[in-house]
Amino acid sequence: MKIDLVTIFPGILDGPFRESMIQRAVDKGLVEINLVDLRSYTHDRHRQVDDTPYGGGYGMILKPEPLFEAVEDLRNRSGPGESRVILLTPQGNLFNQGFAWRLAEEKHLILICGRYEGVDERVRTSLVDEEISIGDFVLTGGELAAAVVVDAVVRLLPGFIAEEASENESFTGSLLEHPHYTRPPVFRGMEVPSVLLSGNHGEIARWRRQQSLKRTFERRSDLLDQAELSPDDKLYLETIKNQES
Ligand code: SAM
Repeated sequence: MKIDLVTIFPGILDGPFRESMIQRAVDKGLVEINLVDLRSYTHDRHRQVDDTPYGGGYGMILKPEPLFEAVEDLRNRSGPGESRVILLTPQGNLFNQGFAWRLAEEKHLILICGRYEGVDERVRTSLVDEEISIGDFVLTGGELAAAVVVDAVVRLLPGFIAEEASENESFTGSLLEHPHYTRPPVFRGMEVPSVLLSGNHGEIARWRRQQSLKRTFERRSDLLDQAELSPDDKLYLETIKNQES
């Protein structure tokens, strides 16, 4: 996969991709991540990327010309129809794990990071395939939002982590993951559940499944509507509900 991030502040994105597992994914050749300075697609002396809004009002708007030029150039470097152009905006579709899985199938993502009051509307209507918001709040720019999207997508690429690691992960199969414990078995009087020390893999799997159901019921019962539940799962959920009431 290739990911191009179009930004006027590439320095902000330097850190998140040069550490830990994302850097390892780059080193392993699973993904190529490029920081594209929007100013390199300007042609004036001041390398101007923004301008005041027509109709007046507060703030600046990212101009269409450099954004069109940048995206068209980046798109031309891939095969026809191979690029997906994404605008980060608080007005976009809410990003979630399903969204990340879908983007992980793409060959080439071009992420546009807005700034100031956002981008000229013609960018949104004629250049962008998809708009993503990472939550109902407003950031100063799209760079951190883009970093969130890239992180969530890259960790789903084949070869990034062992397949089993993502099997029970939160939002995979519409449940939250079970709790985890590590050594020591007793810490400040708090004990690790004995089943986890039993070595009985069947019992451990059963306990984890039930904890996962319990957590989801207690914290995000909305997710249970889409979850695939076995008759045992349903019985367990009934037991919890009865205990609650
Ligand atoms: N004036 C815009 C509005 O009210 O919808 C907000 C602009 S915001 C200050 C500047 C840039 O930050 C946006 O163009 C977008 O790229 C990015 N941004 C802010 N909040 C975001 C969010 N929740 N998700 C994704 N991108 C966001």
